Amino acid sequence: MVLEMSKHVDRKLRQPIVVVLGHVDHGKTTLLDKIRGTAVVKKEAGEMTQHVGASMVPSSVIEKVAMPLKKIIPFKLEIPGLLFIDTPGHELFSNLRKRGGSVADIAILVIDINEGVKPQTIESIDVLKARNVPFVIAANKIDKIQGWKPYPDEPIISSLKKQSRAVVNKLETLLYNLIAQLSSYGVNAEYFERVRDFMKVVPIVPVSAKTGEGIPELLAILAGITQRFLAERLRFAEGPAKGVVLEVKEQQGYGAALDVIIYDGVLRERDNIVVAGFNGPIVTKVRAILMPKPLTDIRIARTELQIVEEVAAAAGVRVIAPGIEEAIAGSPFFVVPNENEIEKYKRLVMEEVETIRFRRDID
Ligand code: GDP
Repeated sequence: MVLEMSKHVDRKLRQPIVVVLGHVDHGKTTLLDKIRGTAVVKKEAGEMTQHVGASMVPSSVIEKVAMPLKKIIPFKLEIPGLLFIDTPGHELFSNLRKRGGSVADIAILVIDINEGVKPQTIESIDVLKARNVPFVIAANKIDKIQGWKPYPDEPIISSLKKQSRAVVNKLETLLYNLIAQLSSYGVNAEYFERVRDFMKVVPIVPVSAKTGEGIPELLAILAGITQRFLAERLRFAEGPAKGVVLEVKEQQGYGAALDVIIYDGVLRERDNIVVAGFNGPIVTKVRAILMPKPLTDIRIARTELQIVEEVAAAAGVRVIAPGIEEAIAGSPFFVVPNENEIEKYKRLVMEEVETIRFRRDID
């Protein structure tokens, strides 16, 4: 009884799904690598950090790295962690659509603070607004400011206390210019310490993806905003899984496989699923669910996949099922709770794909 209750509490909220967007070369990949590295080094034994196509930063890690910020950002984490989609950029983001919005719960918009807003920054802002996804701005490459002294992995507020007056002034000017630029694109943004209402103002966190400075604040703010404002959306339900197909792949020894992000419910072996295919809806049965084996050491290498019997949202998994060769990337992925509802789910997935096709036509 007690155990069941604590299990229930553990699963109250699922991990928010986080995407990284921004202009080419502004540091999206480097930032994701840094965050993944932090998660692997600081995780507790047995904590899972790798998913298929995504990486998890457990709450224990966020609490550890944000420890020096306790006085400034007081919060208790109820989410089990943050699930970062491994591939940055808007192409992937556009495949994460779901009815009325996005599978992504929140985004990081990376902007090189020395370069400011660029064409793909504007495109990113437009797609985030169109899909109604809240975001945080990582003002990256602060270590390139002349005279910057790196303090690896420290919170930005402690690093700033140790920088020269000239460096702090330069950062302030860059931030001021960035805020003005963003405002001309309809984004009301502000340095994170000055934000009072995170619902109305987009926080800017100065970071270096290279030195890790500012990453503690970035993680703390992502966790804080999602659990405070998106709790309803993150409420975990034990129901049939809902997801989106990221990619259709070959899995050695199995044939076609789907890489899927599960954003709701539980997926189990032998579940009946419906996805959209090039020639209409595909109804099939899950033969196997694959996830990475937990890392045995702290090197960040892609590990082998292993079979799991079930997986709960949010998660990135590889699904093996017969007849899925023609599945469409970006298609919804639904578990059908009972056979009577198959027709309903077939209609649902195809309706969603129609809107994908339509959107592609008008792009
Ligand atoms: P992406 O195209 O947005 O994914 O950008 P990348 O992560 O590939 O970064 C582009 C270049 O900027 C690479 O040479 C990175 O090493 C460099 N870079 C990324 N972040 C930082 C940073 O915080 N500081 C410095 N000095 N270089 C960075």
